[in-house]
Amino acid sequence: MSSSLHTLHNDNVCQIKVPLPFPLRWVNSYLIRGASGFTLIDPGLHTEAAEQHWVQAMDELGIGFRDIEQIVLTHHHPDHYGLAGFFQERSGAPVLMSEAGHHQVRLLWGDGQPMAAALLRLFSSNGMPEEMLLSMEDHMAGFVPLVSPQPEITPIRIGDPLRLGDHEYETVHTPGHASGHVCFYRAETKVMLCGDHVIPQISPNVSYLPGGIDDNPLGSFLRSLEAIGRYDVAWAYPGHREPFTSFAHRTQELIAHHESRLELMRAMLVEQPLTAYHVCRNTFGHKLTLHQLRFALSETLAHLIYMREAGTIREREQDGLIVYQAR
Ligand SMILES: [Zn+2]
Ligand SMILES: [Zn+2]
Repeated sequence: MSSSLHTLHNDNVCQIKVPLPFPLRWVNSYLIRGASGFTLIDPGLHTEAAEQHWVQAMDELGIGFRDIEQIVLTHHHPDHYGLAGFFQERSGAPVLMSEAGHHQVRLLWGDGQPMAAALLRLFSSNGMPEEMLLSMEDHMAGFVPLVSPQPEITPIRIGDPLRLGDHEYETVHTPGHASGHVCFYRAETKVMLCGDHVIPQISPNVSYLPGGIDDNPLGSFLRSLEAIGRYDVAWAYPGHREPFTSFAHRTQELIAHHESRLELMRAMLVEQPLTAYHVCRNTFGHKLTLHQLRFALSETLAHLIYMREAGTIREREQDGLIVYQAR
């Protein structure tokens, strides 16, 4: 049974493409039917369009807010977490996410938004021009309404099985794209709900963030990909794009993508030292929106820090900025 608003897959997994005002276009939310109600995974970003989409999709499915028994988040990013509080208010259902995810939610959108200031300091010391920093500050503050109201969180104990619908799923810790990211796997049906850890066609962003969240996120991401690539997966349900089958192959493609990007960035640093901002512009170009630039620079930092830790480049200060150079 399918329509424009939802698609029913194996294992009672129903996919709803919730619209996003970004080039990604939509986030996949999943509803899993069970005897005691629906589990809602990653409800989406809180926009007017997303709210309307949900009202129509639920109408089409013949379910009301009270039919939702729990809301489960693969990770804390606003395109997944944003509507959790909206659904909690209407359903009374618990919102489950990892402790690490909850910690970052508080840093990003809690009192005083401490992550925003720390991120701007990080970007400044890595060469982002002053005028861009000012616009970035506004940009980050603009996310608060898109994740409000904020839900009360019930922590997921990673490693313990979690019932989604009528079945227990393994909770697989997959840090890298986001610290505290969790995938859900059911061996009987070989179904993997993989959030943004593994996405077809596009490479999940891997960001270095300030505040000791993950000292080497690309290292975490590559390890998580190796580990999850060993699971026997028939169907993978990602956070973006369409469900897919070649799961292990996709994990290898993503690893290869980062390996070639590491080589590319290191080659830029052989002749002269550069700031992360400079490496970012050389890699991702100049036609980026602020939103894209934020992720491009954080991703560049994740690669540079990975190489610094591996000992293939070194970091030092020059004229008040951090620069990197190949060893
Ligand atoms: Zn994400
Ligand atoms: Zn996402």
